[in-house]
Amino acid sequence: MKAIRRFTVRPALPERLAALEALVGNLRWAWHLPTQQLFSEISPGAWRDYQHDPMSLFGEISQDRIDELAADDAFVHRANTLRDDLERYLHEPRWYQELEGEKPGLIAYFSPEYGIAAALPQYSGGLGILAGDHLKSASDLGVPLVAVGLFYRAGYFSQSLSPDGWQQETYPVLDPDGLPLRVLRQPDSSPVVITLSLPDDRVLSARVWVAAVGRVTLLLLDTDIPENTDDLSRVTDRLYGGSEEHRLQQELLLGIGGVRAIRAWTEQTGVGQPDVFHSNEGHAGFLGLERIGDLIRGGLSFDEALQTVRAGTVFTTHTPVPAGIDRFSSDLVRRYFDADLLPGVSVDDILALGSETGAPGGAFNMAVMGLRLAQRANGVSKLHGSVSRGMFSSLWPGFDANDVPITSITNGVHAPSWTSPELTALAEATWGNPETAHADWTSPQLSTSALWETRNVMRAELVADARRRVTRAWNEQNPGGLAPNWLSTILDPDVLTIGFARRVPTYKRLTLMLHDTDRLKRLLTDPDRPVQIVIAGKSHPADEEGKRLIQKVVEFASDPEVRQRIVFLPDYDISMAQKLYPGTDIWLNNPLRPFEACGTSGMKAALNGTLNLSILDGWWDEFFDGENGWAIPSAATTDPVERDRLEANAMYELIEHQIAPLFYERNESGDPERWLGHVRHTLATLSPRLTADRMVRQYVAELYVPAYSSQAVLRHDGYRAARALAEWKRRVTAAWPDVSIVHVESGGLDATPQVGDELRLRATVRLGTLSPDDVAVQVVYGQSRTGDDELHDTRTQDLEIEIDPDRSTDQSEGTSLFTGSVRLRRPGGFGYSVRIVPKNDLLASPAELGLISTAS
Ligand SMILES: *Cc1c(COP(=O)(O)O)cnc(C)c1O
Repeated sequence: MKAIRRFTVRPALPERLAALEALVGNLRWAWHLPTQQLFSEISPGAWRDYQHDPMSLFGEISQDRIDELAADDAFVHRANTLRDDLERYLHEPRWYQELEGEKPGLIAYFSPEYGIAAALPQYSGGLGILAGDHLKSASDLGVPLVAVGLFYRAGYFSQSLSPDGWQQETYPVLDPDGLPLRVLRQPDSSPVVITLSLPDDRVLSARVWVAAVGRVTLLLLDTDIPENTDDLSRVTDRLYGGSEEHRLQQELLLGIGGVRAIRAWTEQTGVGQPDVFHSNEGHAGFLGLERIGDLIRGGLSFDEALQTVRAGTVFTTHTPVPAGIDRFSSDLVRRYFDADLLPGVSVDDILALGSETGAPGGAFNMAVMGLRLAQRANGVSKLHGSVSRGMFSSLWPGFDANDVPITSITNGVHAPSWTSPELTALAEATWGNPETAHADWTSPQLSTSALWETRNVMRAELVADARRRVTRAWNEQNPGGLAPNWLSTILDPDVLTIGFARRVPTYKRLTLMLHDTDRLKRLLTDPDRPVQIVIAGKSHPADEEGKRLIQKVVEFASDPEVRQRIVFLPDYDISMAQKLYPGTDIWLNNPLRPFEACGTSGMKAALNGTLNLSILDGWWDEFFDGENGWAIPSAATTDPVERDRLEANAMYELIEHQIAPLFYERNESGDPERWLGHVRHTLATLSPRLTADRMVRQYVAELYVPAYSSQAVLRHDGYRAARALAEWKRRVTAAWPDVSIVHVESGGLDATPQVGDELRLRATVRLGTLSPDDVAVQVVYGQSRTGDDELHDTRTQDLEIEIDPDRSTDQSEGTSLFTGSVRLRRPGGFGYSVRIVPKNDLLASPAELGLISTAS
C-alpha cells in the first residue's frame, strides 16, 4: 500500500548528545570534514547509503545505538568539542569584519535554486550549485548575507533510465521535517505566513523555512500549506516545471514574497533591513518592484523610488543564449499586476521595465527588467561579460558594446565542499595544513609517489562508486533479478579516466565524443594506452532532444566491446559530483563556444588536480595556460556539421597523441612524473584563483560596497539625492534631442605625426537647455586599422569647457566650446572620435541613461 503522507520521527537524543542536535541543525557540516567524520562513525554504512545526510541517518539508527553513543565518553567529548568549534565559527570576526571602510550591514541574495548538500536537493545544475557555494564562502568570510529561495517539495527530479536508455523522471516528495529546516515563527509561535494578492481576489500564502548555512540564513518559501487552495499549494511543487503561469507565480513569490519574508525575518531577529540586494539571474527580478512599491507608499514617485532601488541592486546574468532568458507574455504580467499585488505601482511602469524594445506590447523579459532595476550588473567570466555586453547592447543604443555597463566576475567554487578528503589529508600530512588552495604543490617536499598514490586512491573511489551506482540502477530496473557479473567489474582503477557530466542542453554537445564511434572504440580498447569515460547528466524533462542524446550514449555504452570502459551514471547530483571530479584524470568539456557562460565543473576538477580538456569557452578561455590541460580549438566555420567534425577530431587527436602518451609515460619508479608535473602546476596555480572565496571577495569589493555607497547617498536626508537624481534624469532625457556636436577642429600635428606629439582638439557643441555641468564632452581614441572603421583598445578622456554661452559675451550663437589634447603614445594607426554623454556623480556608468551624441 502506498502512503498518502509520510513524515520522519526523530529519535529522542539524550542530554549527553545535545551537541549532535546543534551540529545537525547547521548545514556547516556539509563542508566540515571533522563533523562529517563524527556522523559517519555513528553508522558508516548508513552514512554512505544516505549520501552523507545526517538527518536521514538519525531517522535510521536504533535507540540502542544512541544509548551506546551517549555512554561513549570519547564520542561525547568530540561532539562537544565540535559544537564549541561551530559556535566559535559562527561568532568570531572573520575577513569581512576586518574590512576597512563603510560596508553593507546586510546583503540580501536571491536565487531560484540552491545546491548546498545532496541532502537538500533544491537545484538543477550550475546556477544552484553556484548559489550554494556563494552562501558557503560568504559564511566562511563573515559576509553578512541573508538568502532567499523557494522550497520545492519535489526538488528537481530523480533520473533513472528505461531498459532502452530513455530518461525517466520521478519526483520524490521531500519531507521538510526530515531536513535541517525550521519554520519561521511569530513571537506567539504561530508560523509567519507571507501573502500575495492574485487576480480574481485570490491570495497566495506561503510559509517560510529557515536553514542555517554556517553564518548565513537561508529563507525558503513554501506554498504547500492548508491556507492555499489545491492549485495554489502546488506553486512551489517543483523546480522549472509547469506552465508559463506557474513559472510566473513562482517568480512573483520568489521576488515579492522573498522581500516580504526578509522583512518578517528581520522583525523576528532584530537584524536591520538589507542595504544591498543581489539577484542571481533574472528569476527573482520582481524583488525590485516590491521595494519600489514600498518606497512609493512611503511618498516617493515611481522614478524616485526606481533610482533608490537601482542604486542598491546587483544583477548577475548567467546565460549567453538569448533563448535561455526568462520571458513572459505582457498580457499575463498585466493580469497579475492589475490585481492588488503591488498597490500604488502602475502596471504600465512595470511593463515598461521588462519591455525588450521599450515600446508597449511584446514579451516581458526578466533579464531586461533585471538590468533596468540594477545599477550594477555582471556576467560570470571575462568572455561571458563581453558576450553579454554585445547581447544586451540594444538597451544602450548608440554606445559601443564595450561601453555597455555589464562587468564580469568569474565564478568560483567552494574549496572545502569540492576538494576530496584524500587530497586534503595529503596536504595535511605534507605541510601540516589541510588547506589545499594555498599549499606549495610544486615543492619537492611532496614526493611524486605520494601524489600519485593519492590520485590513484581518488580514481579507485570513483570506480567503486560507479560500480555501486550501476548495480543499484540495474537492480531497480530489474527487481528480483540477479545483476550480471560484468557490472561489478566495469571501469579499471588504473586506466586513464575521462569525466563528462553536466546538464544536457544541446549546446553542451554530450554526444560530440560519439562523432566517430570507430575511433572512440579504438581509444577505449587500446591494448597499451586505454582510456575510460564516465558520463552523467540530466536532461530537462521537456527536452526530448536532450533525452535522445542520453539514449545515444547509453546505447553506445551497452556494446559488450566497450561497456567496461564507458559508462553512463544515472542521477547526477552533488554526491556523485564529489566523487567524479577528484576521481577523473581528465575533465572534458566541449560546449559550442561561446554558449558556456562560465562552467564550474572543470574548476571543481582542477581543485583536485584533474587536468581539463576543453573548448576555450567560459572560465577555460581565461585560465588555460598551456600547462594546466589542453584546449580543443574551436572551428572557424558556421557549418554545424563541419564544425562538429573538426572539433571532435581535434579532441580525438589530443587524447590519442598527447594525453594518453603522457599519462602512460612512467619513470623508473613507475610514476607518471611528467603528468604529475601538470597536476602539481594545476593545483598550485589554479586552486587559489578558482575559489568561491576569491569570487565573493570580488563581489564585496566591486559590487556590494559600491552599491551600498550609492544607495546610502540616495537615501540620505529623506531621499533628497534620489529626488534630485530622478528630476535630473528627466530633465536631461527631455533636453537630449537638442544636444549635438557642431564641429570638431584638430591641431598641433604636422603632416607626419610622431610618438610624443600632442593632438589638440576643439569641439563646438550645442547643449540646448542643458548646462556644461550636465554633460561630459569626451574624446574617444585608440588604434585604427586599415579597412575597418572601428576603433580598438580605446581610451576616453574628458575635454574641458572653454566657452560657456551663458557666461560669455561673444557671438557663440548658443554653442559651447570644449577643448583638450591627447598625447600620441604608440606608433601605428590612430583614430579618434568625440561624443557627448550625460554626467552626474551618481551614475555608475556614462551609458546609464542610454543617451549619447556623437560627431559625424
Ligand atoms: C558543478 C555542478 C554542475 C555545473 O557544472 P557546469 O560545468 O557548470 O555545467 C551541475 N551539477 C552538479 C551536481 C555540479 O556539482
